[in-house]
Amino acid sequence: MDHAAVGFQVEGLATLFTHLGENLEAIGDADEVAAHYDRVLDEIATRKLDGEVSVKLTQLGYDLDVERTLAHTQRLAEKAAETGKTLWIDMEGSNYAEGTIAFYERLKADHPNTGLCLQAYLRRTAADVQRLLPLDPQIRLVKGAYAEAASVAYQTRHDVDANYVALAVALLEGSRKGHQVRLGLGTHDVRLIEQIAEHASAMGLPKTSFEIEMLYGIRMDQQRRFASAGYLVRDLIAYGNAWYPWYMRRLAERPANVIFALRQMIG
Ligand SMILES: Cc1cc2nc3c(=O)[nH]c(=O)nc-3n(C[C@H](O)[C@H](O)[C@H](O)COP(=O)(O)OP(=O)(O)OC[C@H]3O[C@@H](n4cnc5c(N)ncnc54)[C@H](O)[C@@H]3O)c2cc1C
Repeated sequence: MDHAAVGFQVEGLATLFTHLGENLEAIGDADEVAAHYDRVLDEIATRKLDGEVSVKLTQLGYDLDVERTLAHTQRLAEKAAETGKTLWIDMEGSNYAEGTIAFYERLKADHPNTGLCLQAYLRRTAADVQRLLPLDPQIRLVKGAYAEAASVAYQTRHDVDANYVALAVALLEGSRKGHQVRLGLGTHDVRLIEQIAEHASAMGLPKTSFEIEMLYGIRMDQQRRFASAGYLVRDLIAYGNAWYPWYMRRLAERPANVIFALRQMIG
């Protein structure tokens, strides 16, 4: 994992680390996960990596003890701040959306160096963007990875993609109006990224007004192309033993992932 991160740095690609895991059985497990991320932040600092960390609230005990989860994230955010880094929060299934956003509002109040993932497939996200803009948010915008009902989520690719662009533009507009917005585009959809880049340029914003974030190993040619064209590119490195549910979701998204994952395992 760290070899990859050092290699990226040479190529001008930054990294985002996430330890794969799902909902916990016991709160003690959350303390271990927090201790693990603490060590990852130490490694990032010692090796002077351009790396950040993204955590899932359920992995830090959210289902069992929200206040303890908040204390864990506050501590990790403080540590990340020592080296000028952001602590990111993943977005999980839609039944966690309101709780996760409210959690982020509390965390962000005292820890400006925190960021949140928002999902373009959720109908509520446009309102969430307006709700969060006054906080000067750091947002990673993704399409969304869970199976969600039509009552809460757009179902067609066309609708999700259109909302993705509209949300990115709303966040860039927020930047232009003076909010301190950090925007990460967490997608491999190069067509969408290019549309958003055109909007940003038409608004007079620099190429660095957003960041492109893709999974490690996917579309590396495009990642390098964007980096050499002057865009900020960050690679998500997902690792750990709890890879199975995560892998099944990636698999459901795209059967070609099977071949990719098999190559990674035997390669
Ligand atoms: C950095 C990052 C963080 C994320 N964090 C979260 C999170 O916190 N919560 C959450 O719900 N989801 C998260 N996701 C997952 C996200 O929601 C999508 O499920 C995932 O990124 C696939 O959608 P896409 O945007 O790449 O678009 P898609 O529409 O799936 O793909 C767009 C195009 O990209 C190419 N492509 C996509 N995937 C592959 C592939 N595997 N191999 C080759 N080409 C491919 C294809 O040409 C495709 O046409 C994250 C994704 C990234 C990259």
